[in-house]
Amino acid sequence: MHDCTVSEAEDFIESLPLSVELPDSFTTTEAKVEVTGLLTFGKYLSCLQCHKKVADGSFTAKIIKCGNCNLTQKRDKCITNCFAQVKVSQDDNQFTVTFFQEQIKKVFNILQGPQTLDEEKITEALLDAPILKIKYDNKSKIINEVSPYII
Ligand SMILES: [Zn+2]
Repeated sequence: MHDCTVSEAEDFIESLPLSVELPDSFTTTEAKVEVTGLLTFGKYLSCLQCHKKVADGSFTAKIIKCGNCNLTQKRDKCITNCFAQVKVSQDDNQFTVTFFQEQIKKVFNILQGPQTLDEEKITEALLDAPILKIKYDNKSKIINEVSPYII
């Protein structure tokens, strides 16, 4: 077995992953919260191909170009998305989290209301929401999961 050489062991060391992905619980927090108010509401267009936000600077009247994947596309074909920065409270603790469209949709589902992009309706829905169980990213504070909190 003289094939077993030192260089093979070195290969093994080099092939170890440089960054290990952390399990979900290290990067997300679960909380039981009540929405206390809205700080920011905004809308943006997302790219048809990569679904990332298309920057305002890349627009002409009809055509936009995605800064992420370079797809040039018709503006009216792009999907309008919205987000809301929301103040929530958990017991005596207050903090800010961000709802993107997907999670706002879930709030409408919980309230059994129709989906809309209307700022007033979204504001109302978020403030009317029951106590929610949320999962959010520790760094970005973006919510990944919303469900009604059931006792
Ligand atoms: Zn794109």
